[in-house]
Amino acid sequence: MKKSVRFSDFVHFFERNDTTAIFHALSREVVFANKENLTELNNCLSQAPGTDANNETINYLLQEKFLVPVNTDETDSLKLMQESILQHPCIDTLYLLLTNNCNFACKYCFFEGSYNNPKEKTINMTKKLAIDSVRQFAGFLKKACEYTDFNPYEPGIVFYGGEPFINADIFFATVEEVVTLKNSGLLPQNLAMNINTNGSLINHEIASFCAKHNIEVDVSLDGYQSMHDACRVWKGGNNGTFAEVMKGINILREAGAKTCISCTISETNVEELPDIFNWFLDGAGVGNVGFNPLLNSHQYKIDDSFCVHAKETLNWLIWDLYRQAK
Ligand code: SF4
Repeated sequence: MKKSVRFSDFVHFFERNDTTAIFHALSREVVFANKENLTELNNCLSQAPGTDANNETINYLLQEKFLVPVNTDETDSLKLMQESILQHPCIDTLYLLLTNNCNFACKYCFFEGSYNNPKEKTINMTKKLAIDSVRQFAGFLKKACEYTDFNPYEPGIVFYGGEPFINADIFFATVEEVVTLKNSGLLPQNLAMNINTNGSLINHEIASFCAKHNIEVDVSLDGYQSMHDACRVWKGGNNGTFAEVMKGINILREAGAKTCISCTISETNVEELPDIFNWFLDGAGVGNVGFNPLLNSHQYKIDDSFCVHAKETLNWLIWDLYRQAK
């Protein structure tokens, strides 16, 4: 058996200090090996003299497809996965961009600076467009549900901007319409709603409305004050926005609204992700956190090597949590 297996083509190795994460890109499973384990495993696969394999390990790696018989053509695995995802492509998420206006001028704003460009015309979504979109989405979902293989994890509506709470009245009206459609069975009960906000316009009315309708509020916060304020500044100036964002988060917490921190990874915070993560939980008191590596935009250029570094750092944060939880 030893001679006849190899690592899958979908396996990637990520090293850090004495540990290697062995990651399967199709199943997204990961296993860890120290230097000794890895040498033993490699020797076993190449049948170096004087080494012995731990069969339990080999069997596990075979079962999880980290190892495959040497002559395996893995294109079939890829095709199977593609077919299972793409068989009946359906729309299961609706994004509503409530406005292209924003009261911040983040230095890395990924919408190519349009929100910060004074020449760009400000457009707020109308109530009619928002409501028509939701009704049309209800129709798409109903059609999608006719496919027996259609099984979205959770269909959803995402309110987005600019800063969507600039158009708060349309947000309120749209959510009321969603509730009506749910109550009349035209939208599924498990349809989730969330809103991506910079947090600065959150008040008690907004927070209790979101809590009442179980809407997840994803607030952008990039770490401690110095990190956050390095990029997230008010429009028309260079002052940081940290204090106002924290105020918004506290109002949400007091109202019992489902809150998630959305942290953009940049050069200013990438080296401290584990500490920032712990601070989000203990200092900011928010249990849900999402990290987004920064992308290139017209006005903010990202080095390729930074992208690789950011992704690896993020992977290790996730894998360390995974290992702690085991
Ligand atoms: S809060 Fe969002 S939309 Fe507004 S400037 Fe910052 S990144 Fe752009």
